[in-house]
Amino acid sequence: MGCRRIAPPAELVRVAGPAGSGLAVGPGPGRGAWLCADAPACFEAAIRRHALARALRRGIQADEVDRLRATLYGRRTAEGRPR
Ligand SMILES: [Zn+2]
Repeated sequence: MGCRRIAPPAELVRVAGPAGSGLAVGPGPGRGAWLCADAPACFEAAIRRHALARALRRGIQADEVDRLRATLYGRRTAEGRPR
């Protein structure tokens, strides 16, 4: 969704965000948006273009973006990579 490439489902991660609750990663009810699982640039592009908000049909706060970014890609820092 962020980069618009066609990727096999195994390389994608689903983000769902029903109105009134936080953003969640993984299968769930309601609308979902697909991002490349291993590409922070894809995520950033989706945020920058408001594609994520459009796909989920809801506003997304900056702190939600931060949390989602940490959930999706934050584990990289735990593997010893500098931020
Ligand atoms: Zn992508």
